[in-house]
Order: sequence, then structure tokens, then C-alpha cells
Amino acid sequence: MKLIPLPAFSDNYLWLLHDEAGQALVVDPGDAAPVQDALQRLGACPTLGVDSEKAPQRDQFLPDSPPHSGTMGQEDGKKWAAAAHSQPTIPKSDRLLGLQLRAILVTHHHPDHVGGVAALRDATGAQVYGPARETVPEPLVRLQQGDTVEVLGLRFAVLDVPGHTAGHIAFFAPEAEGGPLLFCGDTLFSGGCGRLFEGTPAQMLASLDQLAALPDATRVCCAHEYTLSNLKFARAVEPDNQALRDYQQRCEDLRAQGLPTLPSTIALERAINPFLRTREAAVAAAAQRHDPAVNPADPVAVLAALRAWKNGFQ
Ligand SMILES: [Zn+2]
Repeated sequence: MKLIPLPAFSDNYLWLLHDEAGQALVVDPGDAAPVQDALQRLGACPTLGVDSEKAPQRDQFLPDSPPHSGTMGQEDGKKWAAAAHSQPTIPKSDRLLGLQLRAILVTHHHPDHVGGVAALRDATGAQVYGPARETVPEPLVRLQQGDTVEVLGLRFAVLDVPGHTAGHIAFFAPEAEGGPLLFCGDTLFSGGCGRLFEGTPAQMLASLDQLAALPDATRVCCAHEYTLSNLKFARAVEPDNQALRDYQQRCEDLRAQGLPTLPSTIALERAINPFLRTREAAVAAAAQRHDPAVNPADPVAVLAALRAWKNGFQ
């Protein structure tokens, strides 16, 4: 199995997973074009099988803007308008020369996660799996907590993780080759979490608690490259956290080379992500320093204060 983050828009990653036989799935394709390009470029030659030598080059990970530009960390809705109006055309005669797209996994309804779903499904016949309680282009298999789906021979457990949106789901494959695999959309980012557009702090805390309880080695495939801006905030919350300091250095080195900081792991996020550390004394105290009304013994209040602080953090 190969796991590849395809850059899209200013800071999205569309995660592509494919096996040796050339069968592929993609997660949250907000734009069809980069997926279609990868399906063709990484695909199997009919006589030679999958060409693994065509693995993505470093340049592929370079975003449109420099790593330290102001585009990172923007979780607002401004870019969604552009995503919604993006209607790539995929020549049907060119399709399926490479990887065969078997499935599209959708975590939530935002346009930068679903904008390419219809075009990819029409071009490839891929089955779409998405949240039971959100509006996603039909037809799709609607999923919620407790459901499992099998794709590419991999079993995914579906987790309800409301907060960023009301019906947000995540896909967890405990037995994936190379270690457990989590596709968490905009719920958990490396060093941060999604904005609370439709849910409450209590819902987001429960969602993050559920993700934090996954195995240490779980690879966390977030939908945005927000890591450096998140870590800047995390350092403001926990300036004495050495693991956080070390991780920030590693991520700065990766971004300087144009490489993704993702996937992260659950063990790492538990050590450095303030939104998974609301019960840590240092994090709770920082939240209370920022907002004296916060009860540091209440992790919901701490998370709410951190999220409000981060929203205005430069
Ligand atoms: Zn979103």
C-alpha cells in the first residue's frame, strides 16, 4: 500500500491510498484534477503493472505559496467559494489508464472536501462513502459511528467526530499495512483542531478524546497543512514543552524542503497538541491566564478558551 498526500488549493491534502494491484481510494477530493492527474501518473502500465518508480517527487509537495506565507492556518471559509466553483473536466477517453479509483471517502460537507466528488465518480465509477447526517453529492453510502466499510481489502471503522461540522465522521483502519491509519478531515490537525463551525466545545472535546484514544502508532492523515501555524500557537500555550519544541524544528525543516509535515501520529499529537492536552496543568493554566473566567479543572472550558484564543492568534 502507498499513502500519498496530494496538495490542492492553498493548503489542502487529498489523501490517496493505492495497492500493488493499482486499486486506489481517495479521501475528501475537494478538487478532481490533482486526483485524476495522480491516478494517471502513478498508475499501472497494462503490460508492466504498477510503476512504483513514478512515486511522487519532492516538487509535487510544494504548495502554490511559500511554506511560511500567510496562507497557512487560514481555516475560514474564503477559499471555499473558489472550491465550489471549480468544475474540472475529465476526458473520459483518458480515464483509467493508471490507478483504478475504487472508493471516495468523505469526512464532511465543506466544498474543499467534496468539490471533486461528482466528477471523479462520473469518470471512474468509484463508490462514495460519506457522513449519514450531512449533505454530500448523491449517491453515496451513508455512514455513522459503529459502521464499518471494506475498501481495497482494508476494514475502516467509522467514528462520529462532530464539532467542526455537526455530522463530521472519521475513518480508522486499525490493521492497515504500515500501521493503523486515520483519516480525520478537519477535526484533528497536527498541533491543532478544526474551528467549531457547527458544533460545541463539548462535542469537539468528546471527538478529540475519541481520536486520542486510538493506538499510539496510528498515522494521522489531516486534510490541511496547518502544522507550522498551529505549532506557533501551541508554543504560546506550552513554551516549556520540549517535545513540542523539537517537533517544531523538525516541521520547519520539512517545510523548508517543500515536504509535508503529515502524517502525524496519535502518540505525537498527545505529546504536543494543546487541544488533546486540555487536562494537562500547564495547558489549563495557560487557558486561564488568557481568560481568567475559565475553570482550569473543566476541560470543556479549557478547550473553548483555547479555540477562542487560537481564532484571534497571529
Ligand atoms: Zn471543513
